[in-house]
Amino acid sequence: MKGDAAVKPKGTVFVRTEVCKGCSYCIDFCPTHALEFSREFNPKGYHYPVLAKPEACTGCDLCGLYCPDFAIYGVRLKDLEALIEAKRAAQAAAE
Ligand code: SF4
Ligand code: SF4
Repeated sequence: MKGDAAVKPKGTVFVRTEVCKGCSYCIDFCPTHALEFSREFNPKGYHYPVLAKPEACTGCDLCGLYCPDFAIYGVRLKDLEALIEAKRAAQAAAE
């Protein structure tokens, strides 16, 4: 049996749902087809993207490059972890 749970995600996305205009560029241009439209509407009445296949996201940020409204960002998890670690270290040094 094939199980996606065994696949470790390499990236993730952050979506500013309130500014999304539902154009679908991010969904159409994602090379791994990781995004889908939400069932819910944002306050402007648009469906916004959700990470439907987290295991497929590489964090390449092509979705972010194509978004005309800066409403989505892709990040590599290793970069995100390094950033969190650097912030922790800076906080510890300031204490
Ligand atoms: S970061 Fe890349 S792989 Fe992940 S959803 Fe965006 S375009 Fe797709
Ligand atoms: S490209 Fe940007 S505005 Fe268009 S659906 Fe994706 S997040 Fe929304």
